Amino acid sequence: MRKGSIAENLNSVTERIVTACRFCDRKTDAVTLLAVSKTRPAADLRAAFAAGQRHFGENYLQEALEKQEALTDLDIVWHFIGPLQSNKTRDVATHFHWLHTVDRLKVARRLSEQRPGALPPLNVCLQVNIDGEDSKSGVAPEALPALAAAVAELPNLRLRGLMAIPAPRGENEDQRVPFRRLAALLEALQRQLPEQPLDTLSMGMSGDMEAAIFSGATIVRIGTDIFGARK
Ligand SMILES: *Cc1c(COP(=O)(O)O)cnc(C)c1O
Repeated sequence: MRKGSIAENLNSVTERIVTACRFCDRKTDAVTLLAVSKTRPAADLRAAFAAGQRHFGENYLQEALEKQEALTDLDIVWHFIGPLQSNKTRDVATHFHWLHTVDRLKVARRLSEQRPGALPPLNVCLQVNIDGEDSKSGVAPEALPALAAAVAELPNLRLRGLMAIPAPRGENEDQRVPFRRLAALLEALQRQLPEQPLDTLSMGMSGDMEAAIFSGATIVRIGTDIFGARK
């Protein structure tokens, strides 16, 4: 819930990250806060930037491009975290630093082909359907090794790690279960592809951030607790 200003909320989220890291003996800078700014106006991103926030995550391409246009004066690291149709890859390849939702080789190939030569490779995470939900995008864990091996071959992508959005869990269920599973999948990939810079676990949102950090998250994606509830 949003209680204070964006700057105050950023402060308290950052404090929660530091506390969670200390609790599980991780370095306090081991976790990057990604501010999820979907549906928020450019002015909100500007306020967060003024408070020190640098990484922003967007879900809807058209909306993101408009905000980027309005914020060209800011040195923002842009992450695309929404589903990506294969006919929209060029905009992501051109205008983003990171993409968290690769789950098909076709999309990855297009992104690599379309990444402008003047830019460094696009950082990508493979999205895993960690709870095997019919409705959710993401590669099945069984298909992950083959997809990762193929993506690792693409010259203009850097395969950085894995991302997941677990199914909602009830009060008495352990939120860490799917996160630990994702961490184990990353460890297996690190053994499979030792040459790749596989250092990223993008997991944890406003409601399960601490459980994700305890399980090894390196990027937490936080919207509501920074910007307030979405309509
Ligand atoms: C909206 C969204 C978030 C942020 O969720 P909150 O619960 O508002 O913190 C994180 N990740 C993805 C992929 C999202 O779409």
